[in-house]
Amino acid sequence: MSKLTDISYVKGVLSKYGFTFSKALGQNFLINPNVCPKMAEMSGASETVGAIEIGPGAGVLTNELAKISHKVVAVELDKRLLPVLNETLSEHKNIKIIHGDVMKLDLKKVIEQEFGSGEVVVCANLPYYITSPVIMRLLEERLPINTLTVMVQKEAADRICAAPGTRASGAISAAVHYYSAPELLFKVSKGSFIPSPKVDSAVIRMNILKEPPINITNEQLFFKIVKASFSQRRKTLSNSLSSGMSMSKSEINEILSSAGIKPTARAEEMTMEQFAEIVNQFRNT
Ligand code: SAM
Repeated sequence: MSKLTDISYVKGVLSKYGFTFSKALGQNFLINPNVCPKMAEMSGASETVGAIEIGPGAGVLTNELAKISHKVVAVELDKRLLPVLNETLSEHKNIKIIHGDVMKLDLKKVIEQEFGSGEVVVCANLPYYITSPVIMRLLEERLPINTLTVMVQKEAADRICAAPGTRASGAISAAVHYYSAPELLFKVSKGSFIPSPKVDSAVIRMNILKEPPINITNEQLFFKIVKASFSQRRKTLSNSLSSGMSMSKSEINEILSSAGIKPTARAEEMTMEQFAEIVNQFRNT
C-alpha cells in the first residue's frame, strides 16, 4: 500500500514541515483513500495519456496519477508545500511540480513543452474559491486536452452539469456545455477532507468537444447574452436582456419573437439551440 493513502503518514509529513492549512487558498486535503485512485482512473490518464494537476496539496492525487500515467505535471501556488511534495512523491520519477498560479500560467505553453503533441487530461481537486474561473479559463483557452476531471462543491457540480433548458441550469451550465459534455461521476462526503468543509463535494468530468454543439458566428456575443440572461434569474428574459444588453424592451421583444421565444420566458428555460437562435437574431438587427 502506498504511504500516501495512510493519513497518519501525510499528517506526519505536513507537521514535520510546520504546515498549517490556508482557508484563503481553499486547502481541504483529501484523506479518504478510496477517492483518489477512482478519480485518477476516471480522468483517462494512462501510459499514453499525460496528466496535469492543479493544486497537488500533499500529493495524494498526484501519487495516483503518477501510478497510471507516463507523466504528471502539477501546478501548486503554495510555496510551503514544495518541500512536502518533494518528500511525499520522492519515489516517482515521472512528476514535475511547477510553482505558480494556475490563473496566470501559460498552460498551452506548459502542455506543449511537457507533452509535445501527446494526449493530455486535467485532473484536480480544485480550490473552492476559484472553481468557476479555473474551469472557464481552461475551457476558453481551448487547451489541447481530452477531459477535465475536477472535484468541486456538490452544488457547483449540479449547476455545471445541468443541461441548459432545465431548472437547475445557470450561466456556467451553458458556458460549460458550449465547450464540453459534462457528467457527474460520483459524490464525495465532506468527511473525506481535512479540514472538513461545510458541504459535500462531487467529481465531475467534462469531455471536451471537438466542435461546439451549436452554430453561432459570434462567440463573444453568445457569452454576453448568456450572462445577461442569467444576471437576474427571477426576471423574464425580456427584462434581464434589456438591462444586460442596454437595449429597450421593445427591441429585445422583437429579437425574441424572431427567435420564436416568448418574452415572458426565463433564462433557465433556454436550451443551447434557443440561445444560439437569440444570438443569431441579434446579429440580424
Ligand atoms: N490535491 C490535494 C488534495 O486533493 O488533497 C489538494 C487540494 S486543495 C482543495 C487545493 C490545492 O490548490 C491546494 O494545495 C492549494 O494550495 C492549491 N491552490 C490554491 N490556489 C491555487 C492557484 N491559484 N494555483 C495553483 N494551485 C492553487
